[in-house]
This record gives sequence, C-alpha cells and structure tokens, in this order.
Amino acid sequence: MARFDLDGKEIKPLSICLIGGGGFIGSHLCEKLMEETSHKVIVIDVSDEKIKHLFNQSCSWFNRIEFHKINIKNDSRLESLIKISDLTINLAAICTPADYNTRPLDTIFSNFVDAIPVVKYCTESKKRLIHFSTCEVYGKTIGSFLPKNHPLRQDPDFYLLKEDASPCVFGPIEKQRWSYACAKQLIERLIYGESAENGLKFTIVRPFNWIGPRMDFIPGVDGPSEGIPRVLACFSNNLLRGEPLKLVDGGQSQRTFLYIKDAIEAVVLMIENPSRANGQIFNVGNPNNEVTMKQLADMMIKVYAKVSGVSEADLSTVDISSKDFYGEGYDDSDKRIPDMTIINKQLGWNPKTSLEDLLEATLSYQHTTYSEAIKNAISKPSL
Ligand code: NAD
Ligand code: UDP
Repeated sequence: MARFDLDGKEIKPLSICLIGGGGFIGSHLCEKLMEETSHKVIVIDVSDEKIKHLFNQSCSWFNRIEFHKINIKNDSRLESLIKISDLTINLAAICTPADYNTRPLDTIFSNFVDAIPVVKYCTESKKRLIHFSTCEVYGKTIGSFLPKNHPLRQDPDFYLLKEDASPCVFGPIEKQRWSYACAKQLIERLIYGESAENGLKFTIVRPFNWIGPRMDFIPGVDGPSEGIPRVLACFSNNLLRGEPLKLVDGGQSQRTFLYIKDAIEAVVLMIENPSRANGQIFNVGNPNNEVTMKQLADMMIKVYAKVSGVSEADLSTVDISSKDFYGEGYDDSDKRIPDMTIINKQLGWNPKTSLEDLLEATLSYQHTTYSEAIKNAISKPSL
C-alpha cells in the first residue's frame, strides 16, 4: 500500500543503514519498518539477539532486512554500507548509567569517538543522518540550584527542557556520571558544525526515558549477574525475584517515561518527512508521565501484582545510597520534562500511552518472558 508523507507526497521505499539496530530501540524500529512500510533495512550491530525473530524465511519482509555483525570501532565495511544507503540512523552507544562513572573511557569513546566516522561518511557521501543523542545533554535543571522550597522551582522557566533555549548543566569532572552527557553533547555539536560548514543533512533525537519490552537485560538471565541495567530492568528484576526494589538516594529523582511504541511512531515520522525533520533537534518524551522513582516503584509493584498474581504484600522497596549502588562518581539528573513544541509543530506528533498502561503491557511481557527462567536460576544451588 502506498504511504504518504505529512505534505501528501507519496513516500518512495528507502534503504536505511541502522547502526546499533540490534538493541532495544532498534528492535522496535525494525519491527515497525518491516510490518508497516516497504523500506529496506541494513542492520549493523555486534548482536542480533533482539531481532532474530525478524529473520524468519516465512516473513513477507525477508528480502528487506539484512544483518551485518560489525563492531563500528574497527570495520571498513561501515563506510560502504553507509554509502549504499539513502539514510543512516545511528543508535550505537554505551547508554547504561552504571557504566558512565565506572567505565568513563569506554563511554566517551562509544558516544563520541566511534560516532565520528559515521558523521564523516554521511557528510562525504551526502547522505542524511538521524543521530540518537539523549535528554541527558540537558543535565540538571536550573531550578535544582535553588533552595528546596523556593517558589521558582514551580516555574516552568526553571525546569522545562527546550531544545533551542535550555542550557546544558553538568556536574564537576570528578562526577564521572557526566562523561556520557558530555560525549553526547560534543557529537551533537560536531553534527551541527558539519551541517553549518559542510551541508550535512541531519536530525538529532533526544529520547526522554523510552521504556518497554526488550529493554536492557535481566541480570543472571540474559545479562551478567552483577550487571546494572536501567531502572525499568532493575525494578523488573527485583519484582521477578521477589526482592525489595532499590531506591537510589531515596528515589526522589523525577523522570517522564515514554512508551517505546509511541516513540517509534515519532522516529518513523522523522524518517518519512525529511523536509520537516532535517536540521532539527527533537525532544521525544511524554511530559504527562512524570513520577519520582519512589512513585514508579510503587506503581510497578501494584501493576506486577495484578499481572503476575503475586501478592502486593510480598513486594516492597528499600533505600540505598548512590555510592553503594553505582560506586564513586555517580550523580543524578533531578527532573526531566521535555518541551514538546518543536516536534509537535514540525511533525504533529504527540505521545499517547499513560504510564499505567505502558507498565501493564511491559510487566506482562517481563513476567511471561522471564518468570520461569528466574525460578530455575533461583532453584539451582549456587556453586
Ligand atoms: P541499547 O543498548 O539497547 O542499543 C544500542 C545498540 O548498539 C546495542 O545493540 C549494541 O550492541 C550496539 N552497539 C554499541 N556499540 C556498538 C559498536 N561499537 N558496534 C556495533 N554496535 C554497537 O540502547 P537503546 O536504548 O536502544 O538506545 C539506543 C540509542 O538511543 C543510544 O544512542 C542511546 O544513547 C539513545 N538513548 C536511548 C534512551 C532510551 O530511553 N532508551 C534514552 C536516551 C538516549
Ligand atoms: N534507579 C533506582 N533504582 C534502580 C535503578 C535506578 O532508584 O534500581 C534510579 C536512578 O538513580 C535514576 C533513575 O532511577 O535516578 C533512572 O535511572 P536509569 O538508569 O533508568 O537512567 P537515567 O534516567 O538516569 O538515564
């Protein structure tokens, strides 16, 4: 079936080079592109675990997707795959906060140095680039520097994050948490500079805590036992094991959560509407889904009890210091509410799914996918 862009023009099938397409966001984007469009996708990643289900010969899209097991740090095939594509989307990154303060060099190389050749090849071959940055480039809100009960903390000018107006406020260098945000900011500036000086056509995406099925890993099941994924997977792991959910520094930090399926609709709009997306930096989040981490934990306990049949009375939370949880050099973003004016104006996109609904869909998936494996892992005697 023919597809039309927001200006009523027919969309021609594209060839898309999807770097880091084997991860959480990539897996959902591949599914959407295969199921609902006729674009071709060339996936580059070091792992295909999360997209294996799409490579079944019986799928109608079998000839429209290919996987290249490539580490972009050191593989000459990268350049040729970018050159044969119409569009490159770069998702590859180390993007779990537990790594930012403990592996700052890997974090900076992954988010800045390794992304440079991708930008360069796109500029040289005059190919469009959609680059994934992060909401973390905003860092802390200005309001966080005011006294705790100061009335200006309630004023949106002191917390709302705007692509074209808000500053990027990071902590001191010894707080290595900011290695990620700083690397992402610098690659944004490099892309912006390539556009200004050399005509690169780009779109930068700043995701605000996109969550859903297949995010990260469950420690000891499909990831290392001692690994620390992002909060959705940490809390899911605690729920599956019947352990208390750990609230870092009391769980007072605030986040807005966006359902991955809503987010992917925004990305497809960017892919298919270059004249509206080129040259733009987009916040992509759900300002209506704001909670503290304590509120998130309480909601997840309620929803998990509902979908799993486990008694709510058996589930609880516990406070832990950030130093004990993440180690030295951790710091936190206090609050992240995206201003949606630009994406709304350019692409007419708005998020749809409430936090309660997205948690229900996601925790049903976690329970179905992992509860047996966890039971087996727990029943095995430790060596
Ligand atoms: P993810 O870790 O699930 O996916 C990243 C993928 O990149 C992984 O499959 C990984 O194997 C691959 N990769 C990393 N280094 C590579 C290399 N050198 N060569 C080849 N492949 C490599 O993470 P995600 O949540 O899907 O995030 C994707 C992008 O979006 C990242 O750039 C991240 O910084 C950004 N982002 C995501 C969120 C979110 O809410 N999920 C928030 C902010 C920013
Ligand atoms: N967090 C928590 N318990 C956990 C994992 C994370 O309280 O088990 C907190 C973390 O300190 C941060 C928030 O949850 O304040 C979101 O963390 P995440 O790792 O998802 O990424 P971030 O939004 O900080 O990039």
